[in-house]
Amino acid sequence: MIGSPPIVVPPPLDAETNRAERERLLAALHREQEACDRCVVAGYLPRADSVAGYRGRIGDRVMLIGQAPGHLSVERRMPFSGPGGRILDGWLQRAGFPAGALHAEVYISALTKCDPGKAPRGGGDRKPSPAELALCRPFLLRELELIRPRAVLLVGGMAIEAFLGPRKLTETIGTSVERNGAHLLPLPHPSGVSRWLNAPAHQALLARALALLAGWREEWEAEDRARERRILTPQFYSEEERHG
Ligand code: SF4
Repeated sequence: MIGSPPIVVPPPLDAETNRAERERLLAALHREQEACDRCVVAGYLPRADSVAGYRGRIGDRVMLIGQAPGHLSVERRMPFSGPGGRILDGWLQRAGFPAGALHAEVYISALTKCDPGKAPRGGGDRKPSPAELALCRPFLLRELELIRPRAVLLVGGMAIEAFLGPRKLTETIGTSVERNGAHLLPLPHPSGVSRWLNAPAHQALLARALALLAGWREEWEAEDRARERRILTPQFYSEEERHG
């Protein structure tokens, strides 16, 4: 993000830690975002509709950060509700998630929460300006602080740059970075406007990225199974008695 230092991800938190309070604060944050018109007041947007720019729950282990919602998301009042969302859901399925996980298990957010409109010279959606990114950034930081994901999917060059600094897609897709115990996973944008995924070599990089995500998901499922076993078989003897 030009002019701003990379976003620092806070350490992951278990879903049940302060859950009720986090849910209360997240609902309040969502209401605040819905009422926000900072970019309209500043003259950057003709209208603000942030409902399209976020969706999710406390307890979602994966958080996805896109650039900004597009017009389809605004019409349907849901982020990634068009073809890009179907592609992303397909990528999640390749990583072992069930169909529909994008909207059922992943907290979806974006660098800016309102539709920036079309790019003036065509070629898809307009990129939010550094000033818009700066105005909306506090909302994203507060979402991160409340969701505390285990993995953050950075979708597209702008999201990757906001968290990791400027990087070439070919050098970063297929790799991951760990920050404060959370995995950051760069992904290409699924938009049909981007030609990047047409190259077989780039598809191979995407496959490597999805394999990383699949591995984390397997770890989380193993943790869940271990936790369930502990709940099903509560300890009767003390640790000293059990282990001597
Ligand atoms: S993009 Fe963000 S800061 Fe700008 S009006 Fe929408 S919610 Fe507010």
